[in-house]
Amino acid sequence: MPLGKSVATMARKLPPTRFPDAVMVQYYRDLKKLTDELGKVTLSVFDEHIKPQIKLYQTRQDSRSYSVDGPLDIIRQAIELMKGLSLGIFSSNKILNTATRFVNSINVFNKKNMQDQGRVRGIDPTQNEPWLDEFMRTSIMENVSYISTIRDEYFPKVESIVYQGVKNGSSPKEIREQLVQRIGMSEKRAKFIARDQSGSILGQMTAKRHKAMGAEKFKWSTSKDERVRDSHEKLEGKVFEYANPPAVGLPGTDYNCRCVAMPVFE
Ligand SMILES: [Zn+2]
Repeated sequence: MPLGKSVATMARKLPPTRFPDAVMVQYYRDLKKLTDELGKVTLSVFDEHIKPQIKLYQTRQDSRSYSVDGPLDIIRQAIELMKGLSLGIFSSNKILNTATRFVNSINVFNKKNMQDQGRVRGIDPTQNEPWLDEFMRTSIMENVSYISTIRDEYFPKVESIVYQGVKNGSSPKEIREQLVQRIGMSEKRAKFIARDQSGSILGQMTAKRHKAMGAEKFKWSTSKDERVRDSHEKLEGKVFEYANPPAVGLPGTDYNCRCVAMPVFE
């Protein structure tokens, strides 16, 4: 029954390209667990080993009496202890597993979505993907590097907060508050990485799969909420060639972008 078949095909509506919100939230939770543990270690070492030395250092400064293993040496050792403990939290194994799980989840999510879209045209765009292995590997390594940066950028800041605080005569309470603030910054960074990477990886995968289903063009689609930036709001509904995307790049790939591409068929 050719008529029935063609009606069924025509009636099939193109499913929207979806943003991987649940994957993004899970990735953020995974990263936040790392920053939470980093914060906990920082504050417990601070309370136990550094705090008593601050007072000691500041009183000894007044009386001008020094000893070989003075408060500053003990503070230095305590920071080394923090760093050592943080290596267990940000172990290369844990970082690699977190990044791998994230990139795999984006792929599973997008694959299903792109298969649903391709079905409208009778094409499975994910059947033969020679680019995928290398793309996954690169994306995982990039995320490994981003996660490692959270720790790498953290300790120079912690050191300067503690040493500056001690030298400037700040109270232990003031120094501790600054540390809490710095931990909050790492958490924000984790949130940024999760959101930014979700959109970037999704945007690039979507482009490859749209082209594989025969869409050389795409329609820009924002998340249609108040967080959409003006420059992307202006692109809403506009059609671009994949070969010639707008200056901000593919949907999802700009910093923190949650826009997606809808396939456009000739
Ligand atoms: Zn956007």
